[in-house]
Amino acid sequence: MGRAVVIGGGLAGMLAAAALAPFADDVTIVEQRDVPATHPTPGENLPQDRHVHVLMSGGAKAIEALLPGALEHWAEAGAAKIPLPSGVVSYTPGGWHRQWPAAHYLIACSRDLLDQHVRDIVLADPRIRLLDKTGVRALTGSAQRVTGVRVASREGLEWCIDADLVIDASGRDSNTVNWLAALGITGIRERHIASTLVYASRTYQAPARNNGAPLVQIATAPHTPGPRQTGTLIPIERGRWQVSLAGTGSGAPSEAKDAFVPFALQLPHPMIGQLIARAAPLTDVQVSDATGSSRRYFEDARHWPEGLVVLGDATATYNPLYGQGMSVAALHARALFHTLARMQLHAPGTARTAQKAIARLTEAAWSLSTSQDALYPHAANAAPSLADRAKGRYLNRLSQAAATSAQAAATLTQVTALEASPARLLKPSMLLAAGLGRWRRPLAYPPLTDAQRAVVNFADHPEP
Ligand SMILES: Cc1cc2nc3c(=O)[nH]c(=O)nc-3n(C[C@H](O)[C@H](O)[C@H](O)COP(=O)(O)OP(=O)(O)OC[C@H]3O[C@@H](n4cnc5c(N)ncnc54)[C@H](O)[C@@H]3O)c2cc1C
Repeated sequence: MGRAVVIGGGLAGMLAAAALAPFADDVTIVEQRDVPATHPTPGENLPQDRHVHVLMSGGAKAIEALLPGALEHWAEAGAAKIPLPSGVVSYTPGGWHRQWPAAHYLIACSRDLLDQHVRDIVLADPRIRLLDKTGVRALTGSAQRVTGVRVASREGLEWCIDADLVIDASGRDSNTVNWLAALGITGIRERHIASTLVYASRTYQAPARNNGAPLVQIATAPHTPGPRQTGTLIPIERGRWQVSLAGTGSGAPSEAKDAFVPFALQLPHPMIGQLIARAAPLTDVQVSDATGSSRRYFEDARHWPEGLVVLGDATATYNPLYGQGMSVAALHARALFHTLARMQLHAPGTARTAQKAIARLTEAAWSLSTSQDALYPHAANAAPSLADRAKGRYLNRLSQAAATSAQAAATLTQVTALEASPARLLKPSMLLAAGLGRWRRPLAYPPLTDAQRAVVNFADHPEP
């Protein structure tokens, strides 16, 4: 059937290998890191693994379709399936969101748990081989057909691996644009939108009586004067809370441990600060500014070689506040599977067809996450278009409407959970909701159930 090579053994790479396996004689994943064999210790997995990562139901379903049993594995290991929007206590510029009945969900757990179970299932497949501590240095072949990769070991040994199909899943620092240029393919259009957000994250052991805290999200209004700030607390396995605080410019959080709780307390509502003030920190504060959105429009290249597909963060990254990257990577891998179910691995046009399918999924997530960010002064390397401005303002209105309208919340959640196309946001009922949303009164207090209120325990901290 042919041979496939996957560059990168992150989530996108593992899922791409699972998608390829039924259609290839063998699949080699080349990964430059030393991939932890069993349960990774902090910092062993990925640079971003200490920050809050939620997996939207659209992504979770795509992973389950590729790796049946993944959801059950995660649940057994302590991952929480949190209903959306009812399981999230969310304060946005529209006020506190009512806890509307759930139609979708997200998976909340550490990145380590999520990745480990995916690795365990994927690498148990005898058709898939992991070559770690080995970096890809170049693509081999020509502008007409990529025929493999040139790799180097840590000891400096270099060799080539031939393949009928090469998948680039090497993440946000992918070198494919340069590697293609070396084969004579240039002019790949790129767009960068800097969120300028700095993330600071820390993991806590929840006090025993406080186990069962809801997922809490607090955000300032976009496009108001002053820095943007947000906080997110998610319950993760083994009774822990993972907390990510984020801010721009002078409102950015720092790595100082004693500044973490005060930052959380001064968000538009102090709930996260109140919770963690009474919890035991288990880690230092980890800071990251790799939060920009970048997109490489491979699908628009005038000439595309046979034998190469780019997916996951290597094709686009998104502001992490929208929680999309892993889910989009999963949807990309599923699109690869569907292409290969129709076209042979090495058939003419397979790579281009897959790349176009991947681009359609990227576009949906990209338009959601960048429409607000593109409007910040100097955020983008190209000025926002009229369409960007209209989309940004409309989504802002919809977010306000979702705080007070069950229908607006349901549709917006369906789209942000990557279970439906953003075109659904243009239904007449959504246009109406966006028009009326601002005039309805949001909730003044967080809509906690009795059980959640007991956890949050406002007794010592009366409502502001
Ligand atoms: C702060 C932060 C918070 C985030 N929060 C969320 C969230 O809540 N929800 C969500 O869905 N997403 C979130 N994301 C995005 C998510 O982390 C990524 O989208 C996801 O991990 C994409 O995976 P990937 O496999 O494409 O890339 P990566 O995870 O970067 O993996 C790429 C792999 O390729 C390897 N590699 C690179 N170059 C080479 C080479 N030349 N040769 C061999 N191997 C190579 C790397 O070592 C790495 O292992 C967040 C990101 C950040 C930064």
